[in-house]
Amino acid sequence: MYWDSKIETMEREELERLQYRLLKTLVYRLYSFSAFYHRRMEEAKVHPDDVKTLSDVTKLPFMFKRDLRDNYPDKLFMATQEDLVRYHVSSGTTGKPTVVGYTANDLEEWTVSLARALTSCGLGTKDVIQVSYGYGLFTGGLGLHYGAERIGATVIPTSVGGTERQIELMQDLGATAICCTPSYLLHMGEAAEKMGVSIKKDTKLKVGILGAEPWTAEMRTRIQDWLGIKAYDIYGTSELSGPLFTECTEQNGIHIWGDFAYTEIVDPKTGEHVGDGEKGELTMTILKKEALPIVRYRIGDITGMEHEVCACGRTHPRITRITGRVDDMLIIRGINVFPSQIEHTLMGIPEVGQHFQIVVDRKHELDALLVRVEVKPEAFSDKITDLMKIKEMVAHRLGAALTVNVDVELAEPGSLPRFEGKAKRVIDRRKM
Ligand SMILES: [Zn+2]
Repeated sequence: MYWDSKIETMEREELERLQYRLLKTLVYRLYSFSAFYHRRMEEAKVHPDDVKTLSDVTKLPFMFKRDLRDNYPDKLFMATQEDLVRYHVSSGTTGKPTVVGYTANDLEEWTVSLARALTSCGLGTKDVIQVSYGYGLFTGGLGLHYGAERIGATVIPTSVGGTERQIELMQDLGATAICCTPSYLLHMGEAAEKMGVSIKKDTKLKVGILGAEPWTAEMRTRIQDWLGIKAYDIYGTSELSGPLFTECTEQNGIHIWGDFAYTEIVDPKTGEHVGDGEKGELTMTILKKEALPIVRYRIGDITGMEHEVCACGRTHPRITRITGRVDDMLIIRGINVFPSQIEHTLMGIPEVGQHFQIVVDRKHELDALLVRVEVKPEAFSDKITDLMKIKEMVAHRLGAALTVNVDVELAEPGSLPRFEGKAKRVIDRRKM
């Protein structure tokens, strides 16, 4: 358990005063010692003295992923190699990867953030936590490993893959919690059933810490009902350090520790703030990062923010479930479509299974959207007429939700690809 009531239940005004102090220190440090950020501030005609209140943060220039790529591998670092104790590297889908360096203090902050988060999910010394995120250059495995050890839990560092062995160890070592992508947990649940093991009945698993890919509330309900666990959303990206924040037991948004990060939600087009609760692009400033400072970083994830005190007693703001990424948006015949809208609709249809695939193509100069979805074994009988009805119903529901025509293909249970890490559900043939 990791609980600091002074920090975690701090009044909002007091927290904002603390954020302002940390921001002010950060801005002076960057202006004085970072050639990159000094230049950016000159271009934006802003001096550290212009930051007189927390809301003056909007005077500061944004940072983007391309800034990290353009300065590959370590030109933005503000620590020497002697001060660094670790690197993580995220492989980009386009261009150079992003390299993140950590000082000992950066690792400590990251660990404490996750220790607080795991505590807020009700985990502690009595728990055995199976970490099935990848260990290595990806931040998921090692991040959760240290966070889980810090709360005194016992860690099973299984990493990704070797699914049958993972299920054996889950049973034999009595894992009570698992950390992995939602798609890997779905795969594990099915693999367990093939081995004659019900995760709900034959294991002690009660908590899933799931993330590293967008997933919907409907998928959560399905996972919870099927596997008999409470599934919590986790959030973070390597640029911010790694996975950092989770929902608490209220399952009512992800707590962002305000003494760690200052969060803004901006309109992706204008960069202006949106209203409390409204959706926009998540933008974060990490207030105490030493090696690779992150200021007003436009993460690209779409979410909203709540400031009301949570029923758990924690006063720190919460972000709502990520509904997609600015760059995941598919434009189909001029209409914006998010893969999460498709998942949301499909998971509300009892006849279909958890696995689906989205294929976008161009036919006769027009965009065509095809959704392949598995049906549940019980729906997959030899009654062709029933399947036709399900197919029509799915196409109708998707068409109504997305306001674009959708072709639907029903697939046999178990026939679509499964994923051990992040799911790759969208195939955009227009880009091939
Ligand atoms: Zn809470």
